[in-house]
Amino acid sequence: MSTHASKISMEKIVSLAKRRGFIFPGSEIYGGLSGTWDYGPLGVELKNNIKREFWRTLVYQRDDTVGLDAAVLMNPRVWEASGHTEAFADPLIECKVCHERIRADNQEDKESHEKTHRTRKETPAWTEPRQFNLLMAAELGSVEGKKSSVYLRGEITQGVHVNFKNVLDAAWMKIPFGIVQIGKAFRNEITPGNFTFRSREFEQMELQYYVRPHEAESMRWFLYWKEERMAWYKRLGIRGANLRFREHAPDERAHYARAAWDIEYNSPFGGWKECEGIHHRGEWDLSRHKEFSGVDLSYFDEEAKERFIPWVIETSGGVDRALLFFLIDAYREEPDKDGVRTLLKIHPQLAPYKVAVFPLLANKPDLVDRARKIYTILKSSLVAAWDDIGNIGKRYRRQDEIGTPFCITVDFETLEDGTVTVRDRDTMRQERVNEKELIEHLSDKIKTGS
Ligand code: ATP
Repeated sequence: MSTHASKISMEKIVSLAKRRGFIFPGSEIYGGLSGTWDYGPLGVELKNNIKREFWRTLVYQRDDTVGLDAAVLMNPRVWEASGHTEAFADPLIECKVCHERIRADNQEDKESHEKTHRTRKETPAWTEPRQFNLLMAAELGSVEGKKSSVYLRGEITQGVHVNFKNVLDAAWMKIPFGIVQIGKAFRNEITPGNFTFRSREFEQMELQYYVRPHEAESMRWFLYWKEERMAWYKRLGIRGANLRFREHAPDERAHYARAAWDIEYNSPFGGWKECEGIHHRGEWDLSRHKEFSGVDLSYFDEEAKERFIPWVIETSGGVDRALLFFLIDAYREEPDKDGVRTLLKIHPQLAPYKVAVFPLLANKPDLVDRARKIYTILKSSLVAAWDDIGNIGKRYRRQDEIGTPFCITVDFETLEDGTVTVRDRDTMRQERVNEKELIEHLSDKIKTGS
């Protein structure tokens, strides 16, 4: 059986995600709300782990970056300065028969829509493409007639740039330095779909890295971040064959962008899809906010004794997209002695549960008590699950399917010598480990991912 991402059916992923509590359709009992998703008990763990790994790599392991958490609602002038009110748009065409709108560049949707009309013996026809703004409007204030319109942020980027000076003054950063942020963004996507891939409410994880306005130096940083971000996905387990870089074509690139590349994933829904963008934004952001706010956002370089508007290298990824691709890439069906086992071969640092604890027999109080004790101790350091239902084989299968890297069985030998069986999700190998050494033993394996 092939494990290549493009061969995995999305139905299996969606069904596993729902059945085991990773991802549910938003507002499901009311018939749903298109483009929204709710993360279940395991989904929220996986999502938090992805965000934590991002934060750890980009903030805690570096000296040249700091974090930020800006508001979703911003002064509407922000979006004028950033160009979003003017240009944050997708070209749309409208069906003249049923008035449904789709993206003009979505050939697949266009053809299937036309086919539907033809089967009803209608002649499909389209309007000319028109721009459709993706910003989602909201109303602020409680008094009718006195409400003011704002937008839910269409990207998290601007919250960082408007705080450039605040961070500079408060954290005494010296260029080059970066600001990292993770948070929700909202877009009136015309055709949400492919599970969580294109949603109307989603999370982004970004780095805005401020550099000197020098051609060669800024390009060096651009290339550096491009490689760093790719390495991050690979280190967390996505197979290299399913990842690639793609350079934006000149007509795709924002007019201010000096370079723009995407990290793409080879998805089961139509092949290579954007996972994260790495953009060289030049001086666009800070110079526009300087112009629109009237606040000087230049930087004074003490060493070189020069004042300048920094250039920005941005890495912008979607948390939900990363989660979806981590899930797809980890999904395996492997033959075992009882047929086929489904497993999520996900990096231990991302796995919702790090370990599951089983008493060999649920009706032997000695075993249950001892297992409970071990479980309680483990829970203080690691996210742990408890399972005492069915035979051990069935429990392994349940844990494999949700990606728990280690299962611990407490048996009669444990009562005698204090050792437990530790079973590895990927190799299915079992070893005896002393209960006192468990935390250290597991922590080492979780860190290295082996
Ligand atoms: P696309 O071309 O797929 O619409 P984009 O180029 O508009 O994406 P950016 O504006 O560069 O995307 O946003 C950065 C990242 O945010 C994307 O790489 C993606 O991971 C994520 N993202 C953007 N739009 C969505 C969405 N509607 N749903 C989920 N994630 C999204």
